[in-house]
Amino acid sequence: MDAYTDLIQHFREFRLLESIGAVVGWDQHTYMPTKGANHRAEQMGYLAKHGHEKLTSPKIGELLGQLDGAKLDDTQTVNVREIRRTYDRAVKMPSKLVEEIAKTVSQAQNVWAEARKKSDFPAFAPWLDKIVTLKREEAKAVGYKDSPYDALLDEYEPGATAAEITRVFAELRADLIPLVGAIAASGQKPRKDILTREYAIDRQHIFGQAAAAAIGFDFQAGRLDTTVHPFCSGIGPGDCRLTTRYHPRELNQGLFGILHEAGHGIYEQGLDHAHFGTPVGSFCSLGIHESQSRLWENQVGRGRAFWEHFFPRLRQTFPGTLDDVSLDDFIFSANNVEKSFIRVEADEATYNMHIILRFEMEQALMRGDLKPSDVPGAWNETFKRMLDLTPANDAQGCLQDIHWSMGGLGYFPTYTLGNLYAAQFMQQARKDLGDLDADFRVGQFGRLKGWLNEKIHRQGQRQRAGELCKRVTGQALSHKPLIAYLRGKYGPLYGI
Ligand code: ZN
Repeated sequence: MDAYTDLIQHFREFRLLESIGAVVGWDQHTYMPTKGANHRAEQMGYLAKHGHEKLTSPKIGELLGQLDGAKLDDTQTVNVREIRRTYDRAVKMPSKLVEEIAKTVSQAQNVWAEARKKSDFPAFAPWLDKIVTLKREEAKAVGYKDSPYDALLDEYEPGATAAEITRVFAELRADLIPLVGAIAASGQKPRKDILTREYAIDRQHIFGQAAAAAIGFDFQAGRLDTTVHPFCSGIGPGDCRLTTRYHPRELNQGLFGILHEAGHGIYEQGLDHAHFGTPVGSFCSLGIHESQSRLWENQVGRGRAFWEHFFPRLRQTFPGTLDDVSLDDFIFSANNVEKSFIRVEADEATYNMHIILRFEMEQALMRGDLKPSDVPGAWNETFKRMLDLTPANDAQGCLQDIHWSMGGLGYFPTYTLGNLYAAQFMQQARKDLGDLDADFRVGQFGRLKGWLNEKIHRQGQRQRAGELCKRVTGQALSHKPLIAYLRGKYGPLYGI
């Protein structure tokens, strides 16, 4: 067997183990009986250990060495480049550090959950301190050019740098603040009662499933179940699992949650399955993944044309519930902009401020400019400056997210990158495809999905996110399409 084929086979086995872990993990969060938790942890640990051994096996290093300078075609070049990136990162991490991080974050998550419940930051502070120290060690082990934060970003958003994100986020923030201010000053507010009426859960499920199928999620190659924290798991060719949660008096949560996860799922289903388990057949980055979920949830799913088609169907699904509500009222209430404390409940515009704040704090923590014990004060001060609100307690402030307790520093910016990429891609799709709203008005989403399949999904990791963006839109990532989209949407709604 030649070195390339051998390398692909080895790497694919690592990905196969990972995808077995994904099935087992999906089951854990959906149907596993609670008493199965300990045995499941053992199964997951066993799979993770073998996966890591596969990935860091000296054989992969040898094969990569043999392929150095070899003549390769385009697909092979991409696969070798990206396997090397993954392999190098994995072997640079001392196994003692990997173990220490795993142990620390598994305990820290429990401490965080308790601390959040009691709004007791001092209980969590020593753990955050430990995690930041370990993450600094990780950055040192992995290596970086400019900022240690880049080494953490690289895990989620290969090739992105803190400097570049800082620039785009600063421009975004400068335009967002006056926009959100103008919305608040307009005095216009949607009705609050529309989305908080009684919506039977079984009917929400039927409607959500139909909407996901309509935008292009293939239920012959996937399913939708309920869980506590919604996610999408692309298990492999022909198998993608979506999860959501329903609340009988919050239509927002289930419905837009499903469109969001279905957007992730359409990306997974659109990957080039002939290349499963290799970089060419894998998603590009978390930011690009998030762009696909937010494109369907927000750009399409909160738009007027989408609801021109779906609103009569929503009324039929919940007979009598929306008799006094006009299409305009409904759309306005699905696009309410309001400064609030909790990131996951924030609207499309203010959401990005929540992310910019976290991105700034994470960098300050990594640089050592901010002591973990000083996080609550710094959080509240920045929050006041950016959103003009002061959290009543830390549960409503710096303790609200699980990410830091999981060691996920560097993850937050991918959410706003997703919003930015979604707007830039959608702007280009509208240029390339003409009147997409005319499609949406009659429930047709196939042209947009086909365009995303071709331009983004089937590209896999042929380009890094920034290059993909340039290739698809002809421009580097910019805040302008997102601001133009938000102004275009909120202008008529708020009369600004
Ligand atoms: Zn998402």
